Amino acid sequence: MKAHRLGRAAVLAARLRVPDARQPQIEWAHPLDWEPADRLVLGLYNNTCCPLPAFYAARQFTCRDCGAEEVWTAKQQKWWYETMHGHIDSRAVRCLACRRARRERLRTAAPGANLLLERTKRLRASGAAKPSAQAKAEVRAALQSKWWSLRVVAIQTMGRWGGEANLERLHAFMAARPEGGRRYSGWERVAADAARSALARRE
Ligand SMILES: [Zn+2]
Repeated sequence: MKAHRLGRAAVLAARLRVPDARQPQIEWAHPLDWEPADRLVLGLYNNTCCPLPAFYAARQFTCRDCGAEEVWTAKQQKWWYETMHGHIDSRAVRCLACRRARRERLRTAAPGANLLLERTKRLRASGAAKPSAQAKAEVRAALQSKWWSLRVVAIQTMGRWGGEANLERLHAFMAARPEGGRRYSGWERVAADAARSALARRE
């Protein structure tokens, strides 16, 4: 079945001469090897200067990871470009098995994301209790974090704790809020807004 597909794709590619032709002659193509393209849908999701394809032709490719010869069928291309809105210049580069393996690798190799979630949860929880020395240290560290989300939770925690030093700090965040303009749409604005709602919640 796969060998059959590969054979047809090879013949198709040979006939197309250029491997990436967008406007091949279709009269002689096997009905399984091409699909008409919906240019209206493609146009909605692609900002491209080049003409959009009128149809998809099966493509032969070599899997980037395992080197297997594969066929990206016309149907799969139509699904990728028109249902998943893949960019018109994107191509299949991995076989199904390698795609699955890669997805699994990426999923399990993202402890950073889980770590951030854990720190955020811990910080939130410590806002409900009296500030311990360790919790204070965590807030200090969170304010230095590269993650905005963590810094915002730190501000909220400070608001829940209250105390002169924390409230003073929150007022300082509010005072640092840039006025108007879109130039300072950064952290200062986010911090000031978080500080304001943290203070408002205390009243
Ligand atoms: Zn592979």
